[in-house]
Amino acid sequence: MILRLLTSAGPRPASASYGDDSATADGACPHCGATPFRVAGCGVRPSADDRAYEADAKCVSCFAAVGTLRAEAETIFGVREDEDVCARARVYDGRKPARLA
Ligand SMILES: [Zn+2]
Repeated sequence: MILRLLTSAGPRPASASYGDDSATADGACPHCGATPFRVAGCGVRPSADDRAYEADAKCVSCFAAVGTLRAEAETIFGVREDEDVCARARVYDGRKPARLA
């Protein structure tokens, strides 16, 4: 998975943090100067090009909107199709759906 912070000044590489729900982007926050530049995403959605998930990014230190956090997924058919296939797999995992029991 490739993680980037898309800003008005261009994309910045980012890495996921595993201790919480934040990510760390290269550089400093353009609003408060915080380093490390930790950002949190909210409003996760499939990207317009269907190759990634995107979320509105806010600085964890000052809560300013700093761009869009983009997580590019390894997908052949697109993230929306992957979600649909995974939903069907849960239905056909060997158990009968409740309405057929
Ligand atoms: Zn900040």
